[in-house]
Amino acid sequence: MMKRAQIGITGIVQGIGFRPFIYNLSQKHSLKGWVLNNEQGVFIDAEGEDGNLDRFIQEIPKLAPPLSRIETFQVNYLEPIGYHLFEIRKSEEAKDKFVLISPDVATCDQCFSELFSPQNFRYRYPFINCTLCGPRFTIIKDIPYDRPKTTMEPFQMCSHCQSEYENPSDRRFHAQPNACPTCGPSLRLVDREGKEISGDPIEETLALLEKGQIVAIKGLGGFHLACDAKNQEAVSTLRSRKYREDKPFAVMCQDIEEIRRHCELSLEEERLLLSTARPIVILKRKKGGEIAPAVAPYQHTLGVMLPYSPLHHLLLQGALKTLVMTSGNISDEPICYKNEEAFRRLSKIADYFLFHNRDIHIRCDDSVTRVVDAKPYILRRSRGYVPFPIKLSFPIEQILACGGELKNTFCLTRDRYAFLSHHIGDLENIETLASFEEGIEHVKKLFYIEPKAVAYDLHPDYLSTKYALSLPDLPKVGVQHHHAHIVSCMVENGIEGEVIGVAFDGTGFGTDQTIWGGEFLKADRKDFVRIAHLKPVPMPGGTMAIKEPWRMAMAYLEEAFGGEWSNLKIDFLKRIDLKKWDILKTAIQRRLNTPLTSSMGRLFDAVSSLLSIRDHANYEGQAAIELEMIADEAVRGSYSFHIVHKEEGTMWIDLSETIREIIYDLEEGLPTPEISGKFHQTISRLITDTCKIIRSREGLNRVVLSGGVFQNTLLLSQVTGELKESKFEVYTHHLVPTNDGGISLGQAVVAHMRLFQCA
Ligand code: ZN
Ligand code: ZN
Ligand code: FE
Repeated sequence: MMKRAQIGITGIVQGIGFRPFIYNLSQKHSLKGWVLNNEQGVFIDAEGEDGNLDRFIQEIPKLAPPLSRIETFQVNYLEPIGYHLFEIRKSEEAKDKFVLISPDVATCDQCFSELFSPQNFRYRYPFINCTLCGPRFTIIKDIPYDRPKTTMEPFQMCSHCQSEYENPSDRRFHAQPNACPTCGPSLRLVDREGKEISGDPIEETLALLEKGQIVAIKGLGGFHLACDAKNQEAVSTLRSRKYREDKPFAVMCQDIEEIRRHCELSLEEERLLLSTARPIVILKRKKGGEIAPAVAPYQHTLGVMLPYSPLHHLLLQGALKTLVMTSGNISDEPICYKNEEAFRRLSKIADYFLFHNRDIHIRCDDSVTRVVDAKPYILRRSRGYVPFPIKLSFPIEQILACGGELKNTFCLTRDRYAFLSHHIGDLENIETLASFEEGIEHVKKLFYIEPKAVAYDLHPDYLSTKYALSLPDLPKVGVQHHHAHIVSCMVENGIEGEVIGVAFDGTGFGTDQTIWGGEFLKADRKDFVRIAHLKPVPMPGGTMAIKEPWRMAMAYLEEAFGGEWSNLKIDFLKRIDLKKWDILKTAIQRRLNTPLTSSMGRLFDAVSSLLSIRDHANYEGQAAIELEMIADEAVRGSYSFHIVHKEEGTMWIDLSETIREIIYDLEEGLPTPEISGKFHQTISRLITDTCKIIRSREGLNRVVLSGGVFQNTLLLSQVTGELKESKFEVYTHHLVPTNDGGISLGQAVVAHMRLFQCA
C-alpha cells in the first residue's frame, strides 16, 4: 500500500550533510518526494510502500549525520499524490527566523584517508573537507550559511569541485568550503622579513621546526605558535619571546599512541580527545618522558590535543610527533587571526610564518577541558563547541549578558537557547574590548537577536560593565558575580527553585562593596541571600595581593596570631621584606587601598605562600594551582575551623585555627604535600559542614558548586563525594566553565527572571 508523510525536523540539521543523507536514504527505500531546508530546519515530503516509508522514518534519527542534533521530529500522514522522483528542492529563504549553525569540525575519517592516498586528487591538500567536517563558524560572515557569505567566496570552484557540490549523493554536496589544489586556498611560508621560502611549505616548515625554529601557523580560529615540544631550548626561547614565564603551553600530538607515551589516558579522556570538537584535554603526565620541562613547569599535568585540520595532520606526520601549539598572541592580547596582523604582532616571537589565504572571519581559541569523575569538565568553551547553544528548560527573552572581566564570554539568548560566546579573553585592553564588541554584533546578526535587556556584573571597573552601561535605551540588570556563577550551573543542569549555592573563586564584587569569593548563597534564578562566607580579611595593596600571594599569607598570619608571629620557625618569614610589610600594615590600619575579602582563592594563595610554594604569581591562579599539584591525595586528616553565627543571621567561617595548625605542622617539619592534602580536606569538610547547617535551617538539600576554585579537581572530587555521602544532591558544571567564562549565562537568566517573570 502507498503511504505519504510530511516530516518536519528541527535542531542542528543544516550545513552538515542532512539533505544528502535524506536523499540517499530515500533512494535506499525507493521513496519519491522532496526535501528542503526551511526556516525551522529540514522539511521532507515522501511517499512510497508503507513498510519502506516506516523504515525510512525510523532510520532518520538512527542514521543521521554525526554532527546533527535532532531536537524535534514531527510526522504527518497525508494522501499520496504520485511523485515521480525524489529531489532536493531549493531552500526557502529565512527571513527573521533563525537556524542553528555548526561549530568548526575536525577532519573526518574519510577526508583523512583521502588526504594520505597518493591516488586521490586532494592528496596532501591542506584544505580538504566535506559536509561532515571542516571550518564552519570561523568562516561564516553572514547568514544563510552559503558559500558567498563565507570567506570561501573569493575562490571559484573548479568543475570537479562544482560537480561534487551539486551532486546530492556526493559527500561534498553543498559543502560550502569545498576546495581542491586547483581552485582552493593555498599555503605560503615566509621568514620574519616577509621573504617567501621556496619549496613545499609543509616540508620546509617541518625542516624548520626540526631545527628548533618557532613558526607561527595559521589554523582554523587563529594563529598558533609552534615549536618542537621535545626541544628545551626552542620551548624556552618561545617562553621568553612571548613574555610567558610559567603558564603551561598546550601540545598537539600525532595520535593517541603518541599521547599515551607522555600521559596517563582513561577511556573518557580518549573519547574527549577524539570528539569532533578536538579540545585540549588536560591529562596526568607520566613521569620522565621526552617532553621539554619548559612546556609545563611545576605541573604534573599536560594540556594535549589531537590534530583537527588537514594542515595539522600534515605537520604531525613528519619526524616530530608532538609540537607545542600555543595561541599566537603576545601575553594577554587576543589571538591573531589575520595574516598582516599576525605578521606585525608576532614578528618578534616567530622566526617564520606559515600563512594561508582562506580568511578567518571570527577568531576562536582552542577549547580546554578535562575529565573529572569520568565526565567531561569544560574549562574553556570555544572552538568546536561554539556556536552550539546551551539548551534551556524554559523559554527566554532576547537578552545580552556581558560577562565578567577575566576569561570573558558574553551570552545572547532567544527562544529556549543561550548562545554562550567563544572565549574572548581577559577584558583588560583595547584589543580584547574590540574583539568583544565585534563578537556581540556578529552573534546578534547570525541568530537574529535584538536584545530587549542587558545584564552585567556589579564590578564598576569591568570593561564589560562599562560597555553594558553605555548601551542606550535598554533596561539593565546588574547581577552579583557569585549569584551569576550559581545560576549558570543551575541552568546547565536544568534545575529550578531554591538551592544552596557554593560559589568559590578569586574575585567577585559584593553587594556590600567588598570583594567576595568564599560564598554560601541561598539562591534561585532570580535572587539570593548571602548565608555564610569566609571571615573577611584585608587584601594588602588591593589587586597587588593577587599577583603577590605573600601579602595574603601575611594578612592571614596577622589574623591568626594577632601580631605575635615574629618568633614562628617557618621559612616563609625568612623571605619576607619586613620593612615592606610595615608599610602595608600601616595602610591596612588606615584602610588605604586595602579592601576586605572573603575570597577562597586568596586563602589558597596565602597557604601556597606559607608553604613556600609560591610568593609571586606570574599567571592567574598559579599559587593555588601549584598548591593543588603538590597535594598528597592519600593523606587523611584535616585542620580545625570555626563557624561563627552572626547576629544578623549570617555565618562567618573563621580560618584562624586552620592557619595556626598549618604553621605548627610546618614547624614540626611535616612535608608540604601532606599539609596541602590536609588543607584540601579541610576545605571540603568546611563546605559539607556549612551545607549541613544550611540544610537544617533552610530545608534545602540541593548543593550547586561553581566558581573558579572548582577548577581544582582534587577539591571538586573530594567535596562532591563527601556531600553525596551526607545525602545531598550535588550539581556541578559539565557544559559551561566553572570559572568566569560561564557567568554570562547566569547573568542572562537572572536578568530574564527579574524583568520578564513575575513569579
Ligand atoms: Zn570530511
Ligand atoms: Zn576544485
Ligand atoms: Fe568568578
